[in-house]
Amino acid sequence: MIIEKPDPQAFKSRSREAVQDPLLRRNIREAMDFLVDRRASQFPDQAEFERLRAIGESIRKDSLRRLPQLLEKLEARLQELGVSVHYAETPAEANALFRSIARRHQARCMVKGKSMVSEEIELNHEMEKVGVSCIETDMGEYILQLAGDRPSHIIMPAIHKTKEDIAKIFAGKIPDTAYTDDVDELISIGRRELRTHFRDAPIGVTGANFLVAETGTIVLVENEGNGRMCTSIPEVHIAITGIEKVVDRLDSIAPLFKLLTRSATGQAVTTYLNLVTGPRRPGERDGPREMHLILLDNGRTQAYRDDRFRATLQCIRCGACMNHCPVYTRVGGLSYGTTYPGPIGSIISPHLLGLESTKHLPTASSLCGACGDVCPVGIPIPKLLLSLRQASQNTLPPSSQPLIGQGSGRSIPEVLAWKIWRLLYANPQLYALFTWCATRMRWLTPSYQGGWTRARAPLRPARRSLRELISQQEGKAMRKP
Ligand code: SF4
Repeated sequence: MIIEKPDPQAFKSRSREAVQDPLLRRNIREAMDFLVDRRASQFPDQAEFERLRAIGESIRKDSLRRLPQLLEKLEARLQELGVSVHYAETPAEANALFRSIARRHQARCMVKGKSMVSEEIELNHEMEKVGVSCIETDMGEYILQLAGDRPSHIIMPAIHKTKEDIAKIFAGKIPDTAYTDDVDELISIGRRELRTHFRDAPIGVTGANFLVAETGTIVLVENEGNGRMCTSIPEVHIAITGIEKVVDRLDSIAPLFKLLTRSATGQAVTTYLNLVTGPRRPGERDGPREMHLILLDNGRTQAYRDDRFRATLQCIRCGACMNHCPVYTRVGGLSYGTTYPGPIGSIISPHLLGLESTKHLPTASSLCGACGDVCPVGIPIPKLLLSLRQASQNTLPPSSQPLIGQGSGRSIPEVLAWKIWRLLYANPQLYALFTWCATRMRWLTPSYQGGWTRARAPLRPARRSLRELISQQEGKAMRKP
């Protein structure tokens, strides 16, 4: 499955189509309302939420502050446990690692648990090119893989599909399957199909929610048990995640887990919490015989080195910012055309893909602040959106690690217009002359003003400037007996 390259025009046209699709609007609205209510029920006391959030924020900030040391510690611990650790700077390097492991094991098939980083590197598509099928085992992802579609939400990837859509997909793509829109039956059909893949695949692939440096543990949070199957049945387990996921101590996991499950799905705990610490040991009856961890950079180092953007890497991928965003909940995740949609996507994608192709994303926000209010690890999302807007205009102070594509949103006519405005505004006589001319020539204002007039009346200067109105009022007052 190829993730389309983000493109500002496509974002606009896809968003326009999405807001005009009542069924899609209804599906997203219902799903988002459900998640928002569930989250609210888990945090009935705002003071308690703030207390827990402060703990989560401090763990993530401290982990990032010591990121290079923690990665070294993690690597050493994992090697002691018999896990091979690989660093990949780019998606191409990560895919080359997957290819080489698959080739060594002569694998033609892999089973994969939910992993946004594997979406980021387009793993399925890259493996298909070398004849290895990568089967999604998360039910939502499996549905999308059958449909040839992309995830629209980082926690609930198939949120834009109705049960009737899924019934049609199963009936059309799974041999000998009759149409049924009974949800339990659909789930059993999916499970039955996936079971054969779990049994046959020599390689299991997963992401990682957290990595613990002191114990060399890969933490996987899930509800379906497919992550556990991917890490315990195949002979080889490959975990892939971003370099920022590491924390120092195992006791940091409890507060982060609490924040993650409550913010993501409104659950006090998920059905499964997997702590994977090395491959199968002598005497153990299951687990992989070989384990690999791939740590992907893909622009994260750039965000890490710039203090203004480092907080982006605190993210624990709960999706709460998306569920509360008035833009995401109207246009849906597919409009964004990036792996990570919504507010988190708008702040992370410029680092992963460069600002040139993503400069529109930080502007796709009303800056209402809801995303920052619910973020369980205190990421100042609105502030980061503003800094990215500035970076796209090249008005941020210089940085030793500039963003790729910085300044690509700068337009000469716009810069000129603001320069002229500043000149006028700084000189009272010139400003008075300008407003006098603008009010007298208001009839010259064009009735078509680009995107503005698509849904609004044209902007026209007033009949008289404020200065003139005040002088008139003052004149009248003076003339009164
Ligand atoms: S930015 Fe915050 S709210 Fe959004 S996904 Fe990340 S942790 Fe969750």
